[in-house]
Amino acid sequence: MTDTVTTNLLDLDRAGLVDFFSARGEKAFRATQVMKWVYGQGVTDFGQMTNISKGLRGELQAAATLAMPTVVADNLSDDGSRKWLLQMADGNCIEAVFIPEAERGTLCVSSQVGCMLNCSFCSTATQGFNRNLSTGEIIAQLWVAARALGQTSDGERRISNVVMMGMGEPLLNYDNVVRAMGIMLDDYGYGLSKRRITLSTAGVVPMLKQLREDCDVSLAVSLHAPDDLLRNQLVPLNKKYPIRELLDACKDYVGEGRRRVTFEYVMLAGINDSDAHARQLVRCLEGVPAKVNLIPFNPFPETRYQRSSNNRIQRFFEILNGAGVVTITRKTRGDDIDAACGQLAGEFRDRTRRRERAQNISGMTNQ
Ligand code: SAH
Repeated sequence: MTDTVTTNLLDLDRAGLVDFFSARGEKAFRATQVMKWVYGQGVTDFGQMTNISKGLRGELQAAATLAMPTVVADNLSDDGSRKWLLQMADGNCIEAVFIPEAERGTLCVSSQVGCMLNCSFCSTATQGFNRNLSTGEIIAQLWVAARALGQTSDGERRISNVVMMGMGEPLLNYDNVVRAMGIMLDDYGYGLSKRRITLSTAGVVPMLKQLREDCDVSLAVSLHAPDDLLRNQLVPLNKKYPIRELLDACKDYVGEGRRRVTFEYVMLAGINDSDAHARQLVRCLEGVPAKVNLIPFNPFPETRYQRSSNNRIQRFFEILNGAGVVTITRKTRGDDIDAACGQLAGEFRDRTRRRERAQNISGMTNQ
């Protein structure tokens, strides 16, 4: 009988690889051997894995793959940010972005093809949703970027940080995201520390408890509004998990230690950026170990929002800072190549038919 089902080994973390090899009567160390080749050396051709016996290499060629996406575009921003458009085997495209800074290099990784959450100020939302990314498709973003950046296992680590802040809601693709983060943390994977991986969520409250148990990486939460009425409009998921529940879950997540949750707050002119909003935000975060990240809104075609003025952002910053809330204003990076927060769109077929529905609605009102 011929085995026609091939396993993409990128979908397996170390424990999964150990199982895969033991099912073939192989020792556990085969798992780390393969991981060193793939993630350390960037080798995906089983034929080149010279410390593995010829027989086993042949077996792997028949039973397994190391399927990498195709790089369809590779854009470099004037500020050094770099964005890759990656095509998966099924034709869907997603984006990953590298942001170099003096002290670190951060890779912004996507977790889904599109997004289901429909936040009103996000470009990914206007594109709709297609599907979850597999573990392999998530970890492949690091592999492609590391290779393109010339990162080697013994050399300088160009990707020192990962943020799960690309396309999609990571907590709605929980298992694959956690497994991929496991590979990022593994010494035979990318050897990152939990502190250097940040998962950003719009606030899927029940999964936060689970995440704390499974893989308590740094947490960022897309807050964007200090009250439920406004947040319902900006982040519709708030109707299901309102601010108070979300903040309680955040407190539990960081516990008594010294860790803080980063709250992202996109600055939308005339919407959520007044002095009163800032003061309300201070009150809202009382008792929560918080850091606030003010993100100047990045526009995209057909958006109804505008970015707050620099003066307004500065004033908002001062109110928070003056009240003792640790606040930073995020520098906009990569906007000349549409790689900034909220500008990632990829290319894929929307399965929710959101665009069509939106067009029908506007068609109706135009008549
Ligand atoms: N779904 C997750 C992961 C996406 S992270 C989440 O919501 O956190 C992307 C970050 O960029 C989020 O904080 C998001 O709110 C923010 N963002 C989205 N659109 C933006 C835009 N147009 N300008 C600036 N920031 C935006």
